[in-house]
Amino acid sequence: MHWNPVAKVNLVALRHNFGVARRYAPSAKCIAVIKSQAYGHGLLEVAKALQADADAFAVARLSEGVQLRKAGVTIPVLLLEGVNDRNELRCAAQAHLQIVVHQARQLALLLENESPVPLSCWLKLDTGMHRLGIPAAQSHACITQLASCAWVDEIRLITHLANADDVDDPATDRQLYQMQEICDHYAFERSIANSAGVLAWSQSHVDWIRPGLMLYGASPMLGHCAADYDLQPVMTLQARLIVVRPVRRGDPVGYGGVWRAPKDGVLGVVGIGYGDGYPRHIQFGAQVLLKGRRAPIVGRVSMDMLTIDLSDVPAEVGDTVTLWGEGLPIGEVAVWANTIPYTLMCQVTARVERHYHG
Ligand SMILES: *Cc1c(COP(=O)(O)O)cnc(C)c1O
Repeated sequence: MHWNPVAKVNLVALRHNFGVARRYAPSAKCIAVIKSQAYGHGLLEVAKALQADADAFAVARLSEGVQLRKAGVTIPVLLLEGVNDRNELRCAAQAHLQIVVHQARQLALLLENESPVPLSCWLKLDTGMHRLGIPAAQSHACITQLASCAWVDEIRLITHLANADDVDDPATDRQLYQMQEICDHYAFERSIANSAGVLAWSQSHVDWIRPGLMLYGASPMLGHCAADYDLQPVMTLQARLIVVRPVRRGDPVGYGGVWRAPKDGVLGVVGIGYGDGYPRHIQFGAQVLLKGRRAPIVGRVSMDMLTIDLSDVPAEVGDTVTLWGEGLPIGEVAVWANTIPYTLMCQVTARVERHYHG
């Protein structure tokens, strides 16, 4: 029996969710976004599970792309932040990584450093996110320069949506319109859609979609849960009940004694805490799942443990407690933690073993 917390990773669900993305955008090619350890699920394991299905992978940084190549991943890999200096450019080229070019500085770097390997470039246009990207006014000049570069053999145009999680926000239509206005002058392929674009903005699908979060079975959309889109949870975070003990009415529990038992009852201690990535700032009223029933978290989350009220849930030491995943959607936990599913997934620490199924 494992007493340590584990993150079970269901690779069948992962491939199912990839299929959902395909069904939403049947005529687009699909770049599976696996940055940040595949949103905490494990970079190489997720890459291996999807490489037969995906048209490409995307990661944020060079080191992530190199890791994929070293592990034998041969499908196209795109660096979403591109390269930052000459050395990175050479490494990316040698590893046959495709690069995003998102600022004039990167364009200059590319033009000034002849590459022995032909490069595939994605010119990133800023259509309203105002984080990365070439401003609209400079887009035509940059496209022309990139197209004139002898060692660039493939050009695509890419932009990123800032507000696509909200179907009522008019900013997305403005971004889509701006992208179209620029791109319609060219025959280059385009990519716009993140998960929210895939699920809610069909005009954003164009040639290549870039889903991340939805592959891991969470909803990026305001007011919609994963099940609304037939997405299945991939990570199920579990720990063991390590103590079951009585608690007397009025007893304070945990650091600061911020919770006091309202009546004589039963308290459980679960062997997982913020040192494993469970959010310390979870709100009062948050729940865990135990034998198919919900039990509330009480008191402060500690580094290695948290406490739950078992007064209404029969339980014994060794029982499995689910923090999120199958039976307890991560979207619900994200609301209790006043965050988004992305951060919960990414924050699961290295101490938590990942167990892969399927
Ligand atoms: C992370 C990222 C994505 C994926 O976003 P999700 O909301 O997780 O689907 C797509 N494109 C870019 C540029 C990204 O940085």
